[in-house]
Amino acid sequence: MKSILRLLPVIATRRGLFIETVLWSVFTQAAVLAIALGLAYSVGRVLAGEPVLPALPVLVLSGLGVLASMAAWRESWVSHDLAYRIIGDLRSSVFDALRRALPARTRHRRSGDLASTVVADIETLEWLYAHTLAQSLSAGLILSASIAVSISLSPLLLLVWVPLLLIGIIVPLITARRARLDGARLAAGAATLRAELLDTMRGLRELTGANALEAQLDRLSDDTRSLAHIQGREASRLGIERGIADLTLALAALGAILIVRLDQSGIAPADIPLAVTVSVAGLGPAAQIADLLRNAGTLRAAAERITDLLGWPPATGRTSGGQASRKPEAGLVFDQVSFAYHEKSAVLDGLSLHIRPGEIVALTGPSGAGKTTAARLALRLWDPDAGSVRIDGMDLRQMPDDTLRALIAVVPQSSPLLRGTVRSNIVLGDPEAPEDMIRSAAQAAGLLHRANGLPLGLDTPVGEHGAGLSGGQRARVAIARALLRNPRVLVLDEATASLDPDADAAIIDILNSSSDRATLLIAHRPATIAAADRNVSLPTP
Ligand code: ADP
Repeated sequence: MKSILRLLPVIATRRGLFIETVLWSVFTQAAVLAIALGLAYSVGRVLAGEPVLPALPVLVLSGLGVLASMAAWRESWVSHDLAYRIIGDLRSSVFDALRRALPARTRHRRSGDLASTVVADIETLEWLYAHTLAQSLSAGLILSASIAVSISLSPLLLLVWVPLLLIGIIVPLITARRARLDGARLAAGAATLRAELLDTMRGLRELTGANALEAQLDRLSDDTRSLAHIQGREASRLGIERGIADLTLALAALGAILIVRLDQSGIAPADIPLAVTVSVAGLGPAAQIADLLRNAGTLRAAAERITDLLGWPPATGRTSGGQASRKPEAGLVFDQVSFAYHEKSAVLDGLSLHIRPGEIVALTGPSGAGKTTAARLALRLWDPDAGSVRIDGMDLRQMPDDTLRALIAVVPQSSPLLRGTVRSNIVLGDPEAPEDMIRSAAQAAGLLHRANGLPLGLDTPVGEHGAGLSGGQRARVAIARALLRNPRVLVLDEATASLDPDADAAIIDILNSSSDRATLLIAHRPATIAAADRNVSLPTP
């Protein structure tokens, strides 16, 4: 329950809506109860030979009916408004946690699994926020009122309520452990299936090429089967519990009818319909609360997965602004930088490098030497374990995130392109950029060159993950995206490796023409390295 309780404070920020939901819910349920009791009372009077109710109370009861249906509509409206606002808040917190924590040195969870938390687990909680919390509170109130009225009519009716409440509490307590495990397995199984599906769709071509598609589809079938097995178990548990709850409610109703007819109950014949009605009417709210307890396992699993994600530690330390000290140096500096993903296996050990404005420095070295790691440290995905990375004299740890992002652009070997057009992918770098700047960035990256074959120029469509463009075209779009931002520091991590050597050299010539940009060029190809002003080689790991 702790994880569910930890998610409750999000309601505090929306307490106005929450209180309104509770009030409408109490009003609706109380009005329905009042109508039932009013009618039962009248029937009792008629049976006892007393005169039929005068017109006014009948009118009041009818009016209450109309009000109850309007209140039910309003309650449904407000509770959904509340739920979707809270879910929006939760999604923002989850995205924020992901943004801070995702570059973690070692990955915790797969992206499909994370997507499952962001979408499915949060939606599971919609049920908690829209249909459960406020309604259970009001159901509790109505249940207490019904018990109080029925016991005031005859204390013998306690014989109905006590076993009903005990069974209602004991059964969910007995099954709570299993419900929690099943809920967790269900959420994890659904997340694994989604992650596998996503991986398969992303790697469809590679799997076909490696003749591994059949094996992967078999794996997906296995995952689907095991998920269906868990779902079956969960459904059977819920079915049994619901059966027990329904049977208990039916027995309670029967018990109430029997008790009110006993002479020892002390209930006057004219009050019998009222006593039966109030007892039976209390069973609805009891069923509602039992429903919440039954589904607690699923809710708890979803809440646990979300709180786990919200609790991930950030990948970098906090930015210490304030008395930011600035050294009198321009460009990108790695000063005695050491970094390890895991203790005891340093990837970078005392790297020192200064790239001045206007300079292109090639960073070379064997695979695994730490070149990409250096690029990521320049983007402050992580903080170095020792030493410092500085841009224009300022330690990245003292630089606000948006300042850093404005100063640096990193183009990795395979840049993710989004579905849209070549233009929409370029302007991701600066959505406000005017057309002439977009065209000059595209021109510099060689995208507008006739030989590069974009049939519709900048309006050429791009599919998911850049589908429809060649490797070279994708690289050029990514470079144009970076150039559009005109960064002070540009890091190209094998970004031109998919271009032919002439095109590669042409792009580096263009980069050379900027006098105030510091460029770090991670490369293997001798011609690319030769085009740089200097070459710094990392040692073999
Ligand atoms: P290079 O770019 O020179 O080929 P990298 O910087 O990509 O080298 O990797 C350096 C070392 O760090 C490699 O041994 C690699 O396996 C390891 N490494 C890279 N990224 C991670 C990560 N996110 N978690 C753990 N180890 C990593």
